[in-house]
Amino acid sequence: MIMADETAYQEQFRYTRILLRQERIQTRVREMGAELSRRFRGEKPLLITLLKGGFIFLADLCRAMTIPHELDFMLVRSYEGTTTTGTVQIIMDLKTNIEGRHVVLVEDIVDTGLTLEYIRDHLALRKPASLMVCCLLDKKEAREVDVPLEMVGFTVENEYLVGYGLDYNQLYRNLPFVAAIDPDQA
Ligand code: 5GP
Repeated sequence: MIMADETAYQEQFRYTRILLRQERIQTRVREMGAELSRRFRGEKPLLITLLKGGFIFLADLCRAMTIPHELDFMLVRSYEGTTTTGTVQIIMDLKTNIEGRHVVLVEDIVDTGLTLEYIRDHLALRKPASLMVCCLLDKKEAREVDVPLEMVGFTVENEYLVGYGLDYNQLYRNLPFVAAIDPDQA
């Protein structure tokens, strides 16, 4: 992880407060990487993330892992609005055959859980040897479906978060920390 001067962002971005500072994220991501390395020693797991939000977490997490592993990506779009049926459109699918593989689904944030539930079921159909979810941020209070999260970085409040890969209208992803914004003022 590249450490940056937090004050340098204040002028250009409108966030209300920093929730998770770089050092805290870095410490936790290192712990998670070490735990995954222990769990999958000798197994060459496949880490999958959903673009775009998960790319920074994945980049740090994979470098915190000390065992050989592969990476793959999916691009999905969640249908929003009128009916929250949890229908997810897969815009770009995996390039890897996951049958018989140990799969770690790396998620930036789990909110209602609808996206994750869909993707989890979708991946399970392809018969991986094991499937676990490793998410950085868990917005527990907002959960609408009970989807298992095997590894969680931080449990957070139900507010709109940006930074460390998370966007607001495609911006803010590059903040090296996680901050809350007021969407009316951002
Ligand atoms: P869910 O299906 O769990 O409701 O939504 C998951 C997706 O919604 C996340 O992968 C993320 O893209 C988006 N999301 C949920 N909460 C937030 C948030 O606080 N900030 C941002 N930037 N995206 C969020």
